[in-house]
Amino acid sequence: MLQNEIPTKDWLVFDNTPEIRQSSKEVAFPLAPDNELVMKKLIDFVKYSQDPQKNSDHAIRPAVGLAAPQIGNNIKMYYIRIEDTDEETGTKKVTEHAMINPKIIGKSNQISCIEEGEGCLSVNGDKEGLVPRSFRIIVEGYDYLKQQQVTITVRSYEAIVFQHEQAHLEGKLYYDLINKKKPWAKKSNWIIL
Ligand SMILES: [Zn+2]
Repeated sequence: MLQNEIPTKDWLVFDNTPEIRQSSKEVAFPLAPDNELVMKKLIDFVKYSQDPQKNSDHAIRPAVGLAAPQIGNNIKMYYIRIEDTDEETGTKKVTEHAMINPKIIGKSNQISCIEEGEGCLSVNGDKEGLVPRSFRIIVEGYDYLKQQQVTITVRSYEAIVFQHEQAHLEGKLYYDLINKKKPWAKKSNWIIL
């Protein structure tokens, strides 16, 4: 682990607190130690949530991403970790992004959503429905893992995760985007993942 505390559900802020709906602040560089600690907690939390051994009592739902406001810090940071298995070779592939001051600078008109909807550690009980987002986006920001400014184009599921986390920095939650009258209604040109 990158920091000393064992991740617990007690770190989480839920959608019944006003802070989760606030916009997050830009992070100053060089990184202050308390801000760096927030990133370390985000990374440790997500990794812990995905580790079947450490998280053996399933105290934390497995997460592919976590944003700083979700652990009580309204600053522009999130961490994403997606584990994939290549179906042909069976090899495991891990995609990680530890973003500071991320910004979405481009979005495709093509809309996409995850077939079964989305979930969020800050939302108790899943709110059902399709969450339409852009299929492809361009993200700019500082990647803490690479220790440099990056501009990346991401697509499909990865792009959905990015937009979910980015929304947290603006105080928005996935269910804001669900069609209130017809939650599962989809347009014919959407890509369903
Ligand atoms: Zn979330």
